[in-house]
Amino acid sequence: MRTAVEAHELLPRGLRIEGLSIEPGRVSISVSSGAEGCGCQLSGRHSSRAHSRYHRNVSDLPWHGISVELEVRARRFFCDDPSCERVTSP
Ligand SMILES: [Zn+2]
Repeated sequence: MRTAVEAHELLPRGLRIEGLSIEPGRVSISVSSGAEGCGCQLSGRHSSRAHSRYHRNVSDLPWHGISVELEVRARRFFCDDPSCERVTSP
């Protein structure tokens, strides 16, 4: 019977752990997306030409009474469809 759970098994597919900090009453996890590209939210065209990086924080998700902070480091990509109104897509 398996009893241990690896940290990466708790994350959605495509995210990897960059950092983990455990303090009394608080856990902070930093993750990044390993995506090499994404589809434009407007045109649907796939792009792998990176534009920039940005951070999003999801805070105070209680887990057995412990405060959990999740920092997601994501990338934004250019849309290469010349007729598309969006320049970038997350
Ligand atoms: Zn587009």
